[in-house]
Amino acid sequence: MLRSIFSSITTRSALAVRTFVSTVSTSGPSFALTEEQQGYQELARKFAHEEIAPKAAYHDKTGDYPTEIIKKAWELGLVNTHIPAEFGGLGFGVFESSLITEELAWGCTGIQTAIEANGLAEAPLIVSGNKEQNKKYLGRMTEEPLMAAYCVTEPGAGSDVAGIGTKAEKRSDKWIINGQKMWITNGGKANWYFVLARTDPTAKPGSAFTGFIVDANTPGIIIGKKEINLGQRASDTRGITFEEVVVPQENVLGSPGQGFKIAMAAFDITRPLIAAGAVGLARRAMEEALKYSLERKTMGQKIFNHQSIAFMLADAAIGIEAARNMVWKAGWLRDQNQKNTFYASIAKALASDVAVTTANNAVQIFGGNGFNTEYPVEKLYRDSKIFQIYEGTSQIQRLIISRHLAENVTNL
Ligand SMILES: Cc1cc2nc3c(=O)[nH]c(=O)nc-3n(C[C@H](O)[C@H](O)[C@H](O)COP(=O)(O)OP(=O)(O)OC[C@H]3O[C@@H](n4cnc5c(N)ncnc54)[C@H](O)[C@@H]3O)c2cc1C
Repeated sequence: MLRSIFSSITTRSALAVRTFVSTVSTSGPSFALTEEQQGYQELARKFAHEEIAPKAAYHDKTGDYPTEIIKKAWELGLVNTHIPAEFGGLGFGVFESSLITEELAWGCTGIQTAIEANGLAEAPLIVSGNKEQNKKYLGRMTEEPLMAAYCVTEPGAGSDVAGIGTKAEKRSDKWIINGQKMWITNGGKANWYFVLARTDPTAKPGSAFTGFIVDANTPGIIIGKKEINLGQRASDTRGITFEEVVVPQENVLGSPGQGFKIAMAAFDITRPLIAAGAVGLARRAMEEALKYSLERKTMGQKIFNHQSIAFMLADAAIGIEAARNMVWKAGWLRDQNQKNTFYASIAKALASDVAVTTANNAVQIFGGNGFNTEYPVEKLYRDSKIFQIYEGTSQIQRLIISRHLAENVTNL
């Protein structure tokens, strides 16, 4: 157990783990995981096999939120992994967190997304929160198995973050938020929200928005129905309306006007982890399809012996290995405090496409059985699609990547 593996190190294990992480991450790129890294990768793998995978179909079918599974994962230290040690967390880097995420996603990406959404809500605080804010809001995540949510998207603006209409207006020493958010993961389960709102109606995006931490029990917050989505149905996705929601000045992240940059900077941490989730799903699809191809026979042969089937599996392996390497690179750069936006977008775009293609091919390899809910791959196919949409669509990732190329054209 991760928490008990490290609990002998300190009360919350955090200090020693942090030291360990920084020792590893400054030693340069390496594909050899340390004993400790293998330890928590193994722990997450075991948890995914024993606790997540057996219940994944149930949560997919019913849409029941996996509270008990998340609680167990939290007890093992598999949730909120990158909260810094000074606020009670394990202080893992993005690289280390990606090892855990890939394993959890192997079990069920609906459940992994619910867990990962905490990381997305926490990232703006890690990027810009002051000591008091982080102690209060990150600290409580390490004391209880609470959930949090990142509220940026609106019914009228997703990719176009600069087009969001939720407003926050300053009245004496308080801010009043009005507006509507949409597609918020953990929307109905969160203890607190990161909320992006427009605070200057005329300014350019770089200074028009402010990020707020909002307690979920604040009067005026109206939580919408749980959305029924194509896949990842264990995850809780909702619209949230803010009506005259009063937020104290002390809950402003950074300073007024910095919200857009904070909301975007969070993605440097979280996009490599979304990509790690996509790698986990693709790996599961490949493994299921490989197993099936070695059992199923047609024309007197295991279907694996038909080259068109074997090559789909080879392509899956090529995609998975390449995508994981990009996840590791994007995570490693962030852990070195180096700008990783370009690589985070490459990792996310590549891994999402690999997940969708691999899950699609897994359904193909299963033939008619692949289309049926008694077999595991139709769920993987449905679950895979969202990776190309949330946290910036695949088109938006390509926009970021191509802009980076243009900006660095002199270096080509
Ligand atoms: C299950 C789920 C969970 C989510 N969780 C969260 C969450 O926790 N918090 C949160 O804030 N949001 C969340 N989202 C929202 C998600 O990030 C957005 O749906 C996504 O960013 C796309 O925005 P949109 O839906 O408004 O699509 P649009 O922005 O309307 O895009 C429509 C299409 O146009 C393309 N497009 C748009 N602009 C361009 C462009 N400039 N160039 C090329 N193509 C373009 C897009 O790629 C897409 O194909 C979630 C969404 C879903 C479905």
